[in-house]
Amino acid sequence: MLIAAAQLSPTLTADVRFAHGVITEIGVGLARAPGEERIDARGAALIPGLHDHHVHLRALAAARASVDVGPHAITGRAALGDALRAAPGAGWIRAAGYHEAVAGELDAAALDALVPDRPVRVQHRTGQLWILNSAALRAAGPPPPGIDAADGRVWRGDDWLRRVVPPPPLDYAALAAEALARGVTGFTDATPSASAGDVEDLDAAVRTGAIPQHVTTMGAGLPTGSVLALGPRKFVLDEPRLPPLDALVEAIRHEHARRRPVAIHALTRVELVLALTALELAGPHPGDRIEHASVVPAALLPALRPLTLVLQPHHVRERGDAQRETVDPADLPDLHRLASLDRAGIPLAAGTDAPFGGADPWAAIAAATTRTTRAGVPLNPQEAVGARRALALFLGGPTAPATPRGIAIGTADAVLLDAPLADVLATPDAGHVVMTVIGGRRST
Ligand SMILES: [Zn+2]
Repeated sequence: MLIAAAQLSPTLTADVRFAHGVITEIGVGLARAPGEERIDARGAALIPGLHDHHVHLRALAAARASVDVGPHAITGRAALGDALRAAPGAGWIRAAGYHEAVAGELDAAALDALVPDRPVRVQHRTGQLWILNSAALRAAGPPPPGIDAADGRVWRGDDWLRRVVPPPPLDYAALAAEALARGVTGFTDATPSASAGDVEDLDAAVRTGAIPQHVTTMGAGLPTGSVLALGPRKFVLDEPRLPPLDALVEAIRHEHARRRPVAIHALTRVELVLALTALELAGPHPGDRIEHASVVPAALLPALRPLTLVLQPHHVRERGDAQRETVDPADLPDLHRLASLDRAGIPLAAGTDAPFGGADPWAAIAAATTRTTRAGVPLNPQEAVGARRALALFLGGPTAPATPRGIAIGTADAVLLDAPLADVLATPDAGHVVMTVIGGRRST
């Protein structure tokens, strides 16, 4: 395949030849080989494939098969009941994206009043909480030790629920196709799965080509002969249920001893302090990451420098309105930092966190530049960065997320846009993606 007249940098427009799975030639006036497909880019940009550095693929596939009960879709208890009762079929109803802004705190009794007869489970937008109605609690049976389900509110119960609730249909091919249309050529799945068997369905989806993208997992391990790559090991810190410091340090050391970096989920100030303390005690390892880092007090900036932060710039837009009400006012100036992290020299990358955030990296790029909430309120606007910087947050590879890749001989994954990069970045939008190339072959 020959892509003619592609903009590779502000000062270089050239022809690019893909053969044997990679770019083999870059030059001016390259002649089309017999039988070779030729695409005229007419000066439009060819950029590296985007990598979504933090996404939950199974949950995203499940969310696509769920009732959307997020605040952008539904307002009020009556509308919530209507949406749940409209779910097709007769068995379990799965709903996702819930936030208290829709209809307040939910528990089993509140859901029973809306849907008494079918088992209902509603996932909170954070992904940390499921709310079950009484029919669902009966159908699920008694929870395992350590999980309290008495009022229908089940924290971090995914492993249990996966065992006892029939799975929703998971259409990995559809979500992969949507991501391809946005120029995404790789995913790092941030689900902290407990065993290698937990990623077997993902492995199969990549092996069969349902997911053509490269997939790296942060889970416990890989099944034998897996086509997935092993990324950092994910640890989740949840402020109401933080692990003892010793246990966390020991778990980090265990991974480092196996030459595996760690990725620690830390949203709040307290979670971040615990993560940094544990990492300091365990000792550094190349590739260690902090996921989210939604609240970063200025005093902690120097301690972050050896780590890579994987951010969600679109949470400003998607969560900002609720967070302005609920986050400790003392933390608001430290919420969703970006430009100040950059200035402090901290390696940065971005992930969508879908389905716990929108799945479109271009929306995240736009949000990083505008810094406004969905209601249009600026949130720490001094933390805005330019669109070129925001795009680069998605251009690193899975093993070096903060180091943007380029287009060069040997590059296998690329995205052809519909205009020169400066024009595209003036209005960042997935609609600018013309073609996505994975392994030297066009996938769209
Ligand atoms: Zn996540």
